Amino acid sequence: MPDRPRTIPILRPTTGEEEASAARRVILSGWVTQGPEVAAFEREFADYVGALHACAVSSCTTALHLALLGVGVQPGDEVVTVSHSFVATANAIRYTGAVPVFVDIEPRTFNIDPQLIERAITPRTRAILCVHQIGMPCHLGTISEIARRRNLRLVEDAACAIGSEILHQGKWEKIGLPHSDVACFSFHPRKLVTTGDGGMLTTRDAQLDAKFRLLRQHGMSVPDTVRHGAATVIFESYDELGYNYRMSDIQAAVGREQLKRLPGALERRHQFAARYSALLAQIPGVLVPEQPTWARTNWQSYCIYLPEGVGQRAVMQAMLDAGVSTRRGIMCAHREPAYARQPWSCGSGEGRCACPGGNCERLRNSERAQERSIVLPLYDRLTEEDQDRVVAALRDAVMSTRNLPAAKHAGGGSEIV
Ligand SMILES: *Cc1c(COP(=O)(O)O)cnc(C)c1O
Repeated sequence: MPDRPRTIPILRPTTGEEEASAARRVILSGWVTQGPEVAAFEREFADYVGALHACAVSSCTTALHLALLGVGVQPGDEVVTVSHSFVATANAIRYTGAVPVFVDIEPRTFNIDPQLIERAITPRTRAILCVHQIGMPCHLGTISEIARRRNLRLVEDAACAIGSEILHQGKWEKIGLPHSDVACFSFHPRKLVTTGDGGMLTTRDAQLDAKFRLLRQHGMSVPDTVRHGAATVIFESYDELGYNYRMSDIQAAVGREQLKRLPGALERRHQFAARYSALLAQIPGVLVPEQPTWARTNWQSYCIYLPEGVGQRAVMQAMLDAGVSTRRGIMCAHREPAYARQPWSCGSGEGRCACPGGNCERLRNSERAQERSIVLPLYDRLTEEDQDRVVAALRDAVMSTRNLPAAKHAGGGSEIV
């Protein structure tokens, strides 16, 4: 029997001796919870993205919760966002007691369609939560202009977007400056920088930053780090309902090492993405990602549309049989049972949607993207040989699941352009 080829994973985080010894240093230091390493990681992260303030937390989900609380989102409010995102985006809105109002995406960037935002705004709208999906910056210029004009707060779900850049007033700036009230990042292993789990909030607003610091640590008036070093006895108080959303010093020490790897990781991902796009041009009907002229993605994920008439699951299974892992395109929250049952599931705003949950005319591009796109393996230690295997497996899978006319080239499958 021939050896089954090694399966190429969808991703593999880049961690090594540097991260291991950083964790060891903290474990042996006598202070393992949020402390000096978290403070150092926050400074280094803020410097990297160009933010005035950065506050570390336990995940991007908890970062989003605090960001929404920070900008004043309350029960009964509405927050305009996308359904086509990891479920945590919409979940964070619900944690505050507010309701997510979903708008559709632009098919080729997988990002919120700024033209549709205004129609979703009602007198109850408090904020817009925009997403830089799989690292591709969304149209922050237009969105922040709408937020300003309609007197709404703006929060960025930048979970995937560490290292991504946007052209702002003629200058390339990092996502996270931030260009809104708050930007929220994730350090889950699927993102470019990982601490196992973890998150970060960046803002220019010192008061917001202070609020995040209070809320992440139980609403405690004097943090344990300060009491620990004090020469006099201090009794803390709890003036607000807070949470335990802390990052540990072990995680932060790992994150500091990960930040050092980031420039190299970005360079390799750009090369791999460009090579994928060149190779995939040979497969008729496949649509590769499009980067607007004003955006530079970090290529957190490389997501393509399959040709028309080719089954998503069949292609993914054929590729897996050939030793290549893929993932289905990004999910749609409104199609999940936790959302579909809600009366507001397909959004609100002007004229509630009467469609059955999970088949929404207004979220058509979102649903199509979920059904027609797949994510290909992309990570630092990928090789060109791996990439060739991925492309060959995709070509074979596409050909075997549909007899395609040979010649025509990308740009077919044009219905979604
Ligand atoms: C990963 C991700 C999150 C959640 O991040 P966690 O750190 O795992 O909580 C939120 N939003 C988007 C768009 C994501 O990709």
